[in-house]
Amino acid sequence: MSAETFEFQVEARQLLQMMIHSIYSNKDVFLRELISNASDALDKLRLEVLRDEGINEDVSDLHIDIEIDKEQRTLTVRDNGIGMSHDEVVKLIGTIANSGTAKFLKELKEAKDSASSEELIGQFGVGFYASFMVADDVTLLTRRAGESGGTRWHSTGEGTYTVESVDDAPQGTSVVLRLKAEDAEDQLFDYASPWKVREIIKRYSDFITWPIRMAVEKPAAQEPEPGAAEGEESAAEDKAEAEVETVNSMKALWARSKSEVTDEEYSELYKHVSHDWNDPLETIRIQAEGAFEYQALLFIPSHAPQDLFMQGFRRGIQLYVKRVFIMDDCEALMPDYLRFVKGVVDAADLSLNVSREILQQDRQIQLMHRRLVKKVLSTVKDMMSRDADRYATFWKEFGAVLKEGLLSDFENREAILGVSSFASTHDAAAPTTLKEYVERMKEGQQHIFYMTGDSRTAMESSPHMEAFKAKGFEVLLLTDRVDEVWVQSVPEFEGKPLQSIAKGEVDLDTEEEKKEVEAEREQRQADFAGLLSWMTDQLGGEVKEVRLSSRLTSSPACIVSDNSDVTPALENMLRAMGQ
Ligand code: ADP
Ligand code: MG
Repeated sequence: MSAETFEFQVEARQLLQMMIHSIYSNKDVFLRELISNASDALDKLRLEVLRDEGINEDVSDLHIDIEIDKEQRTLTVRDNGIGMSHDEVVKLIGTIANSGTAKFLKELKEAKDSASSEELIGQFGVGFYASFMVADDVTLLTRRAGESGGTRWHSTGEGTYTVESVDDAPQGTSVVLRLKAEDAEDQLFDYASPWKVREIIKRYSDFITWPIRMAVEKPAAQEPEPGAAEGEESAAEDKAEAEVETVNSMKALWARSKSEVTDEEYSELYKHVSHDWNDPLETIRIQAEGAFEYQALLFIPSHAPQDLFMQGFRRGIQLYVKRVFIMDDCEALMPDYLRFVKGVVDAADLSLNVSREILQQDRQIQLMHRRLVKKVLSTVKDMMSRDADRYATFWKEFGAVLKEGLLSDFENREAILGVSSFASTHDAAAPTTLKEYVERMKEGQQHIFYMTGDSRTAMESSPHMEAFKAKGFEVLLLTDRVDEVWVQSVPEFEGKPLQSIAKGEVDLDTEEEKKEVEAEREQRQADFAGLLSWMTDQLGGEVKEVRLSSRLTSSPACIVSDNSDVTPALENMLRAMGQ
């Protein structure tokens, strides 16, 4: 059958160019990406067979092979996993499905120096395309389990790739990289060296639960014959045999005791499950024993992914049952507002056939869910008291998501409020917690004052702020979209009601002051009654009422809404949403 030529999707082409010109200095990670794909493919096949989905393949020896041909300078990664059909190859390898890609590429282009490019690439994880950092010619040969014909994909990473059907492909997938000639001289990038490759696997993929095998040259076992001439000794060295060995230890980290596992190992597992190239911010371990036994290894990333707020964002909790991978993106285990948490949960007593629907209803799973949430929140709380910088990073990256929980998770509302922080007029440089705010409240102050808006500067110069500034009241400055919404549904913190300074009558005075002011106001209201009703008439239906105000100190007028009305910022947001 003849090969069909396809063009790479625009985003894919851009990404490939970046890989070819390798702005990422740690090229070793290409192997992690390929091994991670192979491992996923083996997981999928095992699961399909266990679930008896009509697949008749031998799964008694699932593994990954790494093969190096020094002469040809090729490196092959082969698995006998699920494989891909012809259409899957076109769909999965020719395009980038990730919704954050366009945004990512734009930012990458705008990144000025290579350090920030590296960081961006690290955040994104480029998967299969990472091959083009080290190879200028890549061939993928694959056959889907259960199908008879195979598919060959080939590209030099330029503008196009070819796809062709082949009769005789072994089941599974092999990826053959022709290594870049220019790297041959550089020991650092000599991926045709078995020692180098072995070291990379050990470092990045040791915990992969499938055997990763490769031929490692061993010096010939027998000593040179006694009395042999000197010249023959080197001949014996040449006869060095290649022995196939399993390079990785295959230990599931979450099942090992804490003291046995190093931070680096945790980090590598994190990178495997999250597709992130950076270290996690925080690692959380849970080992539950008793009636319902499970182990969890959760991670809080060090930065928010590009698509965190996009629809269809995939959560990162993988579910295992006794070391057997069951599913990605297990939504039953983590609420939406913690969708950035990554990791692995391994439960002992679930059926391998468990479905998403069943999980949603399972009581044990619900208990597990509760425990995981509490543990994540308590970890953030610890972070807050233990390591202010780390907490600050956490909050900058994930605060806006976490606050969504104030709307959905009533059980943990106090805990979420407790680990939240907010910009405030108290200190422009540092956000405050509600607890700290309450501690600073003035004598007689009843409310926690806040304002919502687009930016700190706009709010600080808003007329609403004047009286508060003048009287020295602290005001929280809320700029996240979600702030508009949760402030409506969280009535108070530690008995102090939250009060928007842009709504209704805000009471800033003591009882006596109030009486005086009231008397004065009534007098003035009477004095100005004519003017005010004239102004109300002039403004027609635009306003409900024009009245005198005590809240302004330097602006002549401001617009306020009733307590029950929407705030100006929410009004803008609703308008933007077309409502
Ligand atoms: P990701 O792994 O993040 O999905 P990749 O670029 O690494 O992105 O791979 C894209 C897709 O191609 C995978 O999701 C998978 O469906 C498919 N794929 C890649 N390698 C293999 C393989 N060895 N076996 C089966 N499918 C594969
Ligand atoms: Mg991948």
